[in-house]
Amino acid sequence: MGGSGFTSKILHADRRGGVEHGSIHKPVHTAVTFAYADARELAQVFQGKTPGFSYGRQVNPTVDALQKKISLMESGIDTAAFATGMAAIGTTVFSLLRQGDHLISSTFLFGNTHSLFNSFANQGIEVTFVDATDVNCVQAAIRENTRMVFVETIANPRTQVADLVNIGDLCGQRDIVYVVDNTLTTPYLFQAVDAKASLVVNSLTKYIGGHANALGGAVTELGNFDWSRFPNIHAAYQKGDVSRWGITQIKKKGLRDFGATLGPEAAHHISIGADTLALRMEKACSNASSLTNYLVNHPKVKKIYHPGQPDHPQHDRADKLFRHPGALFSIELDDSLDCFDFLNAMDLVICTSNLGDTRSLGIPVAHSIYYEMGAERRAAMGIADSLVRFSIGIEDIDDLLADFEQALSWQ
Ligand SMILES: *Cc1c(COP(=O)(O)O)cnc(C)c1O
Repeated sequence: MGGSGFTSKILHADRRGGVEHGSIHKPVHTAVTFAYADARELAQVFQGKTPGFSYGRQVNPTVDALQKKISLMESGIDTAAFATGMAAIGTTVFSLLRQGDHLISSTFLFGNTHSLFNSFANQGIEVTFVDATDVNCVQAAIRENTRMVFVETIANPRTQVADLVNIGDLCGQRDIVYVVDNTLTTPYLFQAVDAKASLVVNSLTKYIGGHANALGGAVTELGNFDWSRFPNIHAAYQKGDVSRWGITQIKKKGLRDFGATLGPEAAHHISIGADTLALRMEKACSNASSLTNYLVNHPKVKKIYHPGQPDHPQHDRADKLFRHPGALFSIELDDSLDCFDFLNAMDLVICTSNLGDTRSLGIPVAHSIYYEMGAERRAAMGIADSLVRFSIGIEDIDDLLADFEQALSWQ
């Protein structure tokens, strides 16, 4: 079959899946339940012996088509989609770990994921946060009961890059499930399968959907992990292809029982957005590079955090692993410029909390998304009061440069 490139592959994924009436993308199926004329066939579907749909909480045809598209993007085996990225992460941990298990997580983490893992710690899962930019810190934290390591490719707002490949090797040697949150890089910039990740998580709300019009999340099985060596798979799911045991348990114990299901309308929006992921990432990353190269010499900018900058601590790693160093960066402003005045002076860049939109977005980190954790922890994490995070979109670069220039000269 022709068209193996990243975009060709996903653009034609629905059509090649044999869509009803020759429709070129999967229609929005709103039915909650799926009927069978033959009761025996219904039983076969319930028993997993025949592919099919039963009740919408588990999956429906529109969501299924999106799951297939994400599996293609991540070079994975199977994908479970969820209502949000947080639901994907929460459900993965919930369905695979048990009381007394140990989870090692990067300390450089999306704030809500950090908060979620602390909640799991209250439910009897041991959690250790480590500096995941160095595999030695992960190795030092491993215990006999360590079952999972969780890292983000690029963390926000300070853009630390995890020691992705070495952690993958370590987890492989120790039979530890390795979960990589690929949200900031997306499967277009980074293939987690190459770093031997077991499962890759994406917030579909961000770059993959890309237009800030739908929430969604996904976890994809990459086929690197031997689930027969994992002690927490229920007997009912220790059947058939071993590489599917984990994702089957996530779908059954997590998605079906927990119910954070992605709706068909959202799945449709995300699927259409995903078609242009590569084009949008090319433009957004190019814009971010032009802007950071301009800002690094600006007298009102004290510090800049972006893996594309040569003095970034993990610049060489990002250069080697990622197609581009991403479209998100943060700057610390000079004391003479107030971060609120600066953001208020911006015309094109929108002051808001999301990231991965087609539009450029900026947020005063310490005063918003990192406010709840308090000044002490912010200081420990190196989050200055003047830190502003930008998620760069696909606007024309001259307009973006002009907007930064005029806002930085605010008096
Ligand atoms: C936004 C985000 C999430 C959570 O995704 P939602 O769809 O907002 O629930 C998880 N991880 C990272 C890195 C994110 O940026």
